[in-house]
Amino acid sequence: MVALEEINVVMKYCGKECLRVAVAYPSLYHVAVDSLSFQMLYHYLNKLDGIVAERAVYLKRDEAPTRTLESKTPLRSVDVLMFSVHYELDYVNIVRTLLEAGIEPEASKRERPLVVVGGPPVIANPLPLSRFADVLVVGEIEPSLPFLVEKLLEERGLKKSLLESLPPSQGFFAPQVFSGDEVRFNAAESLPLEFHPIAQVQPLKAPFKWKLRTAIETSRGCLYGCRFCMEGWIFRGVRERPVGDVLEIAEKGSVANRSKLVKLVSLSFFNHRRADEILEKLVNEGFEVSVPSLRADALNEGRLELLRRGGQKTLVIAPETGSLRLASVLGKFIKLDLAAQIAAEAKRLGFTGLKLYLMVGVPGESDEDLISTAEYVTRLSKQSGYQGSRQLKITVSPLVPKPHTPLERAPFVGVKEARRRIELLKRKLRGLADVRAYDPRLAWAQTILARGGAELGIVLQLWALKGGGLGGLRAALREANLNPERYTGYLTDELPWSFVKLAARVRS
Ligand code: SF4
Repeated sequence: MVALEEINVVMKYCGKECLRVAVAYPSLYHVAVDSLSFQMLYHYLNKLDGIVAERAVYLKRDEAPTRTLESKTPLRSVDVLMFSVHYELDYVNIVRTLLEAGIEPEASKRERPLVVVGGPPVIANPLPLSRFADVLVVGEIEPSLPFLVEKLLEERGLKKSLLESLPPSQGFFAPQVFSGDEVRFNAAESLPLEFHPIAQVQPLKAPFKWKLRTAIETSRGCLYGCRFCMEGWIFRGVRERPVGDVLEIAEKGSVANRSKLVKLVSLSFFNHRRADEILEKLVNEGFEVSVPSLRADALNEGRLELLRRGGQKTLVIAPETGSLRLASVLGKFIKLDLAAQIAAEAKRLGFTGLKLYLMVGVPGESDEDLISTAEYVTRLSKQSGYQGSRQLKITVSPLVPKPHTPLERAPFVGVKEARRRIELLKRKLRGLADVRAYDPRLAWAQTILARGGAELGIVLQLWALKGGGLGGLRAALREANLNPERYTGYLTDELPWSFVKLAARVRS
């Protein structure tokens, strides 16, 4: 049960003429509240006249929301249901929400509410959700949302003309009226302050680990282009938030959110050219900082010291592999010497733990490569001094080949084989670290949902009716007569997402 004693909830009166929007997150409450884009949608919409936005999230895993959290309005009575989705396995929860709320799931048979879906996996490949969504947003909030809102207000109740008014050249994919051959990703040129919430809705009391904080998106996009990373490719190129804006959000946020903790959100924090200045100013002003996204090769003694002074306790590095050959397949290599030097420095400065992310199932991977990775970790542990399950934590994930990456056609390694490789790594690292794994069955399902086309709509619907468990997905694929290997093997045909055109950008 989630205790819903929250701060910064918006309670707004919705008159007869106002547009009622439910901003929905197809996952659990604690995931939704931690999502900055969910917060952005909610707070930005509520700043506008004539619109009221309320939230809809899963309070329990097996209970899809049927009403908004704020006024308990039934979801079937809102004008617009706007989903923000960040994880392919949550697609089924969108369909479960529609079914549970008594809303016709198929967009072509539904008059209202209008269902809009956005988020990184949708930008990369909107087709799996095209059966359910009226509008799939292949764009970022800043250029897309004001345009969408303008059209929603102009074309109220006129579904067809509304859909026709949303151009694919500006990142809107409306499957019911789409007749072109491409949808262009609509990227923000910059990150204006008006879209970034300062007061952020969050629980005062929660049955999960939560510290009041202000989340601040310092930059968007990434410079590195690792060959497996979908976010890195779709948001290629960096847009920086001005330092003054970051500090203003932190300062005002500390009052509104009752906390001096700031969580600095980005794909890679030191991509921001003035990241050092941001960190230094925040730490000197007495803020506690949490920076979840760090590249080891962007770290040095000074940066580590600032992070430590800001209260960060764990150093997180994602070398992915210790094999030089696989590193070139992945486009990411963190030299052992450098990683060890950074980790040793972190240890000296008082970081209590080291967390590593590793991968299995990289194309061409052999047991020798996995042994190289285990040796890499063993030497890293020895040289840095982080050892044992309390100090050294490792997460191993099977590679999920994603759309718009150079590995988009690569085969998924297979559940059994992924398990065997994870076990091999676990054996080699026994006693040295606490090694956990992302369930290969989830990676298998994610591969299917990430790389499918519109035919997955019926699968999602059947799956939702079965309650959303993994067994249900297998059964739904069987019922729909779809062989999973069509998605998990090497892809030779034209890719379903080839009509989505990304933007070429380097830095704003
Ligand atoms: S550095 Fe991180 S975010 Fe950037 S492309 Fe590589 S994996 Fe993705």
